[in-house]
Amino acid sequence: MSSARPSLCSRGFPRTRRNLAIMKQCTHADTLPHPEPGPRSETCLECLAAGTHPVQLRLCLECGHVGCCDSSPLRHATAHYKESGHPVMRTFEPGENWRWCFVDHVLV
Ligand SMILES: [Zn+2]
Ligand SMILES: [Zn+2]
Ligand SMILES: [Zn+2]
Repeated sequence: MSSARPSLCSRGFPRTRRNLAIMKQCTHADTLPHPEPGPRSETCLECLAAGTHPVQLRLCLECGHVGCCDSSPLRHATAHYKESGHPVMRTFEPGENWRWCFVDHVLV
């Protein structure tokens, strides 16, 4: 009568294994200063100096540097990472809330 027997073979399988395969472990986010640094400027100063327009802004969580995203012509957020080695930035756009690790290429 009862065909809905619990399937025993799937019990006890470690559920985290799948997630570990997808997500890379980022150690940089743990070493960020608390509280996070305030933005040094309202916009990308390098763009201001160069006369180009940032598409979107990114905030360095190590020092508060504000740079433009990779859709902008001069990609100053990425340039800042290459210069300074500061690994993690977050979006500086209103309503958005995510962080990106340049080293691991993951959202953290
Ligand atoms: Zn990382
Ligand atoms: Zn810029
Ligand atoms: Zn920085």
